[in-house]
Amino acid sequence: MNPFYEQMPVSVFERMSLAAARHGAVNLGQGFPDFGWPEPILEAGGQALREGSNQYAPSRGVPELRKAVADHYGRHHGMELGPDNILITSGATEAIAASIFALVQPGDEVVIFAPAYDAYAPLVRRAGGVVREVPLRPPEWRIEQAALETAVSTRTRAIVLNNPHNPTGRLFTPEELESVAAVARAYDLLVLSDEVWEHVLLDDRSFTPFASLPGMGERTLKCGSAGKIFSLTGWKVGWLVADSAVIDVVARAHQFLTFATATNLQAAVAFGMREGDAWLHPMRRSFTEARDRLTAGLKRSGYAVLPSASTYFLCVDLSASGLDVNDEEFAAVAVEHAGVAVIPISAFFEEEPARHLVRLCFAKRPETIDQGIAAMDRAMRLLARR
Ligand code: GLN
Repeated sequence: MNPFYEQMPVSVFERMSLAAARHGAVNLGQGFPDFGWPEPILEAGGQALREGSNQYAPSRGVPELRKAVADHYGRHHGMELGPDNILITSGATEAIAASIFALVQPGDEVVIFAPAYDAYAPLVRRAGGVVREVPLRPPEWRIEQAALETAVSTRTRAIVLNNPHNPTGRLFTPEELESVAAVARAYDLLVLSDEVWEHVLLDDRSFTPFASLPGMGERTLKCGSAGKIFSLTGWKVGWLVADSAVIDVVARAHQFLTFATATNLQAAVAFGMREGDAWLHPMRRSFTEARDRLTAGLKRSGYAVLPSASTYFLCVDLSASGLDVNDEEFAAVAVEHAGVAVIPISAFFEEEPARHLVRLCFAKRPETIDQGIAAMDRAMRLLARR
């Protein structure tokens, strides 16, 4: 077998979700909500299953969804888009894979900010590319233009940006985004902008799409996710938004990854994208409350919690919490002996991983969060004694 895959570890999300199931632990690891999906979308999905087509969708996506996604960004961000700017994919991870395969040739360099979603670097390497990692430093996790510039060379093809940012929960400021845009302009780069968390905004914050920055419309490949917008992560419906000439090429990569995405789920998501703007505010409010509930509970146990402005996640600083364990050791004790799965942050780095942070998902009902808080309290007692 190909050693690239033989030697690759199982994804940290799969590993921790399997461990949670094996130990009967509450799963605050992999990011998925246990509440909050809009009933009308499920109804629309059910109706589409019974009355709609149950055959292949067009490879680029059903026309009504491509139009609904284009219109959604027109409404929310004033972007002028049509269906030719949209490619529907089986989740945003597939959009990222297809984009990287369509963009990267052997020897091309791709700049990634670390910590980073764990799919980016292996996909770049599988395409024959070379990963250049730019560290973001905790607790601010700021993008520094000077650090970015040291990673860029004449071989650089693209920058992968993730905003809002998983796992830190940071929403980059317009100034930080502009510093990425300045580098993209100066070095003639494309930017793969993973914006799947664009609507999961806490405390009434607002989001700046990267493509809205001067000159970035034609340079940006934006990934979006119905899973995140509608709390339906298992549907695996995502998309890519880009210049139509870019979409034309990425669509060729997509056609031999999944070919097309579940037809009836696309129909239901199209309904949601047309009708669902009213669901966004209640979703943000309930996730903001959930973040606050988890933060307060963790602080009562003595954990140092980093702020989170977006996504489903917050990070806990283990060393600032007075614990003398690394993230993997903490995660193992937490899931095996205390009853809670968390994500060790070192899995989000290629070089020089931070090993003192774990990520917790707060997109959960109050009772799930309370179980998680009780289990984190047990973990603190088990480990503080060491
Ligand atoms: N985006 C999810 C997370 O960060 C994981 C997605 C996956 O498991 N493929 O938890």
